[in-house]
Amino acid sequence: MKIVPLASGSSGNSYLIRQGDHSILVDAGLTCKQLVLRIERAGEDPQRIRGIVVSHAHSDHIKGVGVLSRKFNIPVFLNKGTLSVARSALGKIAKTEIFETGKVFEIECFRIHPFSVPHDCAEPVGFRISHGASRIGIATDLGAPTSLVANLLSDLQAVVLESNHDPDMLMDGPYPWDLKQRVKGRLGHLSNYQSAQLLQRIISDQLKVVILAHMSETNNSADLALGTVRNSVPAFLDQQGKILCALQDEVGPEIEI
Ligand SMILES: [Zn+2]
Ligand SMILES: [Zn+2]
Repeated sequence: MKIVPLASGSSGNSYLIRQGDHSILVDAGLTCKQLVLRIERAGEDPQRIRGIVVSHAHSDHIKGVGVLSRKFNIPVFLNKGTLSVARSALGKIAKTEIFETGKVFEIECFRIHPFSVPHDCAEPVGFRISHGASRIGIATDLGAPTSLVANLLSDLQAVVLESNHDPDMLMDGPYPWDLKQRVKGRLGHLSNYQSAQLLQRIISDQLKVVILAHMSETNNSADLALGTVRNSVPAFLDQQGKILCALQDEVGPEIEI
């Protein structure tokens, strides 16, 4: 199974998951034009995407869902909470498939387990995606690393983990006071330190790759996020574990497990 971040950050998020002839997208928060460009840059054909799985209704995760679904006739998988908020932004979509948070569903060869995350939107979720013995987790847009999240992210070979902000840069930066409170709150986004702590809880012998994601372009840098998280897990790095970064304007890194 392969995962390729197509974009990651507060201006748009999307991940391409591939296995053999099958592909799905997790979130599609760019314009349709950008999504198509990046899907092709990742070496995939948009016609072959079998589903768009949606984590929550914020615009940086759903911006292109409706247009991409209509243009390529792709079914959209989301829960009732997300649909209730996103319905008008999505418009008419090719096919709506409702999943239940906490309940595993399948798209072609993929088994997908959506799990609840604390975030300020209706019924937000992270995902654990498996094919045979290969398991990938995606958890961005969460304000706190709950036990549920840590449990669902353990026992994976690869994980996409939010590392949104450096707390000092956030507090000293240009955001208005209420936005700073929102970002660092329990329903906001994980800081580099929280991400490092969560990683310490979920490391196992199986984990090979960590992709830090949803990094703020205003309140973080790749060097800071990577430095903070790498420093907190020296044994993981000694055992050849990799910690990489997904960026807003780049496709990749492609990870195969
Ligand atoms: Zn987001
Ligand atoms: Zn969000």
